[in-house]
Amino acid sequence: MLVTLKKILQKAHKEGYAVGAFNINNMEICQAIVRAAVAQKAPVILQTSEGAIKYAGIEYLKAIAEAASNEKIPIALHLDHGRDIETVKACIKAGWTGIMYDGSHLPFEENVKNTKKVVQWAHKKGIGVEGELGTIGGAEESIVSRKIIYTNPEAAREFVRRTGVDALAVAIGTSHGAYKFEGAGRLDIHLLKTLKEQLKIPLVLHGASGVPASLVTMAARYGAQLGKPEGVPDDQIAIAVKNGINKINTDTDIRLAFDAAIRKFIAEKPEDFDPRHILSPARELIQQVVEHRMKLFGSDGKA
Ligand SMILES: [Zn+2]
Repeated sequence: MLVTLKKILQKAHKEGYAVGAFNINNMEICQAIVRAAVAQKAPVILQTSEGAIKYAGIEYLKAIAEAASNEKIPIALHLDHGRDIETVKACIKAGWTGIMYDGSHLPFEENVKNTKKVVQWAHKKGIGVEGELGTIGGAEESIVSRKIIYTNPEAAREFVRRTGVDALAVAIGTSHGAYKFEGAGRLDIHLLKTLKEQLKIPLVLHGASGVPASLVTMAARYGAQLGKPEGVPDDQIAIAVKNGINKINTDTDIRLAFDAAIRKFIAEKPEDFDPRHILSPARELIQQVVEHRMKLFGSDGKA
């Protein structure tokens, strides 16, 4: 069933686990995520980036998510990194149950002003809003590569108080994309603890993909040229959940699984050109990846 972002995150905040937020771009990816959630009895957030909306169209994504919402598990449909106000409005109108307004690239006062406006529109319809303060590093679609600027606790307190956001994306050391760290990835858990104590709302971890070596090896074996990608180790994710993260975004791991499975199938079955045969192994592999993440986040059995 479709529920609001606020509801799905408040339960996680109270009970101390994180809900997985996974990016959807097409039907197969959405099915893989929802099948994983059903198998793990986990609440789940399906999120669409502005790029996904451009690619698939808002009506198609809405219809796919609506079909998914026939399942009995709680599902939120969320806009990821909304920067364009028209897209934010279109998603509110179309029935998304969560909106991230990302004004993190703007000066503080402008970020506050815009986020507050989005909160007012969204709350009128019972829709939850995620804001962002600080700069999460790395590159993601329209977001150019940036240096990490850690979230300042005092500014965050003022931001939450003035905007009324339901959740906050914090910069504690992660980066978007497949190349997160040089050397062993570490998060600033001390900063996370401080933020959680002071803000007392659900906190969100972006740039949190694990980039499992098994997926990288599989993709590379069948021709992918990925260099040396690196993700956030599972033990760091577990510590982040224990210390107050309630929503964890995953996109890169899904892309990697999709890519690896399709490459493998095409290499091994060059005579088979049925799109259903090509996409099925990708759907299955993504489901496995998502189920692993849900157990890591502690959201399994929480539906
Ligand atoms: Zn992000």
